[in-house]
Amino acid sequence: MPTTVNAYAATAPDQPLTRTTIERRDVGPHDVRIEIAFAGVCHSDIHTARAEWGPVPYPLVVGHEIAGTVAEVGSEVTKVAVGDRVGVGCMVDSCRECEQCVAGREQYCLEGNIPTYAGTDRDGSVTHGGYSQQVVVTEGFVVRIPDGLDLDVAAPLLCAGITTYSPLRHWGAGPGTKVAVVGMGGLGHMGVKLAHAMGAEVTVLSQSLKKQEDGLRLGADAYYATSDPETFTELANRFDLIINTVSAEIDVNAYLSLLAVDGTMVNVGAPPQPLPVKAFSLIPFRRSFAGSTIGSIAETQEMLDFCAEHGLGAEIEVIPADQVNEAWERVIASDVRYRFVIDTSTLA
Ligand code: NAP
Ligand code: ZN
Ligand code: ZN
Repeated sequence: MPTTVNAYAATAPDQPLTRTTIERRDVGPHDVRIEIAFAGVCHSDIHTARAEWGPVPYPLVVGHEIAGTVAEVGSEVTKVAVGDRVGVGCMVDSCRECEQCVAGREQYCLEGNIPTYAGTDRDGSVTHGGYSQQVVVTEGFVVRIPDGLDLDVAAPLLCAGITTYSPLRHWGAGPGTKVAVVGMGGLGHMGVKLAHAMGAEVTVLSQSLKKQEDGLRLGADAYYATSDPETFTELANRFDLIINTVSAEIDVNAYLSLLAVDGTMVNVGAPPQPLPVKAFSLIPFRRSFAGSTIGSIAETQEMLDFCAEHGLGAEIEVIPADQVNEAWERVIASDVRYRFVIDTSTLA
C-alpha cells in the first residue's frame, strides 16, 4: 500500500500552489524512505511549475533541495540506516548503464537522468519533489549530510550548492584565479562562499549595490553593480571564470568582455529565453561560453563534506509551507536573502 503524505502542489501555470496529498511508493529492496525536514525553494521550481521551460504534468509537487532523516530502508540497502541524516537533490535515478553513468556522472546520463520532480520514474509514474512530508528514493541517489551541518542550512546545498561547486571545481577555481559570480541569489551566494573557500579571488556582479555588505561578509573580495556602465569598463578582460546564475535574460556579450584570455563564462542560470552570443565576443581572446548542470552524486557528497569542513551552509529564511506562494513572489523580485527553506513539519 502506498503511503499518502501531505504536500503543496502546482495545478496550473498561473495558479498559486495549493495544499494536497500525494502517494509515496512502498519501499523496495534498494529504496530509502525519508522523513523530509526541510525543502529549499529553488528558482527552477518556479520556472518548472509556471511552464516556462515546457509542458508540466499537473498537479505537480516541486522541490529538489531535500534534507531529512531516514525513516525506513529496504532489505538490500547498505548505504544508510534508519535515523541517518540525508539529502536528495535534483535527480532520483538514471539509466545506470550509459558511459556517463558508468563514469559516475549521472547528471549527464545519456538517457536523461530522472529528475526529482516532473520526471518519469522507472514505474512510469510522475516524480514529485520535496514540498512534501516524505519521499522514497533509491539508495544510490541519497547522500549523507555530515554532522557538522544543520539540516535547514544543508537543504539548499543539494541544488544551489552543487550547481556552483561543480563548475568551480571543473574549471579550476582556486588560489591565483579570478572568479566572478553574476547574480547573488540562492545559487550566487553559495557560489561566492564556495569560490572563496577554494581560495579564489571572488567578485560579485549584482544588479545593484544593495547586497554589497552581505557579499563581502560571505567572502567576496569585490562587489560591483551591473547597472553602472563603468563596471564593464573597469573590469574588462579581468576574469578567468564567470559563473552566471541569473534566472533572466542578460546581455551575455557584455559579460564575455570581462573574461581574460582563455577565460570561460559558465552559464548555470536557465532563463527560458535564448542568450545570443556574438562570435567576436569569443574569438579575439580565445574565450569560452559553457553550461553546467548540478553535479554527480559522488561530487554532491564531496561538496557536502567540503561545506562541513569549512563551516559553510546556506543563508536561509525558514518559512512554514503555507507561505510558499509569497516566498515565490519574493524570489521573482530578487528579494531573497538568500534561500527560502520550507519547514515541512508545518505540513503535518
Ligand atoms: P534566484 O535566487 O532568484 O537568484 C537569481 C539572481 O539573479 C537574483 O537574485 C538576482 O541577483 C539576479 N537576477 C534576477 N533577475 C535578473 C535580471 N532581470 N537581470 C539581472 N540579474 C537578475 O535564483 P536561483 O535559485 O539562484 O536560480 C538561478 C537560476 O539558475 C535559475 O534560472 C535556475 O533555474 C537556474 N538553476 C540551474 C541549475 C543548473 O543545474 N544549471 C540548478 C539550479 C538552478 P542580484 O539581485 O544580485 O542581481
Ligand atoms: Zn534547483
Ligand atoms: Zn545513464
